[in-house]
Amino acid sequence: MLKINTDLHTHTVASGHAYSTVDEMAKGAFTKGIKLIAITDHGPQMPGGPHIYHFGNISIVPDKLYGVRIIKGVEANILDKGRLDLEAEDLERLDFVSAGLHRLTGHNLKNKKAYTEATIKAMENPYLDMITHPVQKEYPLDLERVAKAAAENNVILELNASSYSPKKDHTRGIKSQSLRLLKLAKEYGFKLAVNSDAHFHDEIGEYSSLNFIFESEEFDKNLIINRSPEKVISYLKNREKRLAQLKKSV
Ligand SMILES: [Zn+2]
Ligand SMILES: [Zn+2]
Repeated sequence: MLKINTDLHTHTVASGHAYSTVDEMAKGAFTKGIKLIAITDHGPQMPGGPHIYHFGNISIVPDKLYGVRIIKGVEANILDKGRLDLEAEDLERLDFVSAGLHRLTGHNLKNKKAYTEATIKAMENPYLDMITHPVQKEYPLDLERVAKAAAENNVILELNASSYSPKKDHTRGIKSQSLRLLKLAKEYGFKLAVNSDAHFHDEIGEYSSLNFIFESEEFDKNLIINRSPEKVISYLKNREKRLAQLKKSV
């Protein structure tokens, strides 16, 4: 069985509805044998979420805690017309940028077409690395269009373990759609990430709710960008180069 020992989607107390500190998250990761985590607190439009200063100052957090590599990131909110709730000058300071559609964040998106178009627009943001929970009941997306845009913009699509967590009082995932992402990834050539979306330290690296994916005939570990810390580090190095290039050309 494939053991994924990284996690690119975790939340701390800064998110307002998560319950562990950065220190506790790092310790939790260490205890579970997870070698690398991205701290991706919600963007400022999330009720109770962090102030913009949170992201401006996150560089003071050590790159390693308890031997666990800490990637400083965000889960920004996708707003109307695919705008994110952090500007380029804020995103620039972060190592890893993910974004997703969330309730009560001030967007006025009302149907599948609007969710899809905002998501695609967000993917055109050069700082964006990953779309979180592209499969969720509340915000259905045209996965074919999103897959195509993910490949064109080199954006990762997420397989989100929390969407199928038995601990949640409602699950937002749709298994057939998550399985479809495996096929689409092969067809269009974008990458997937397996993440917990932990809101408490004991959830880090908890992927057993995704066993239906790992057991699928379509599953291929080579599609998973975070299958090892080395793969993530190499992705981040390329990202840095790409963004430096972009800056030069502006
Ligand atoms: Zn989310
Ligand atoms: Zn999240």
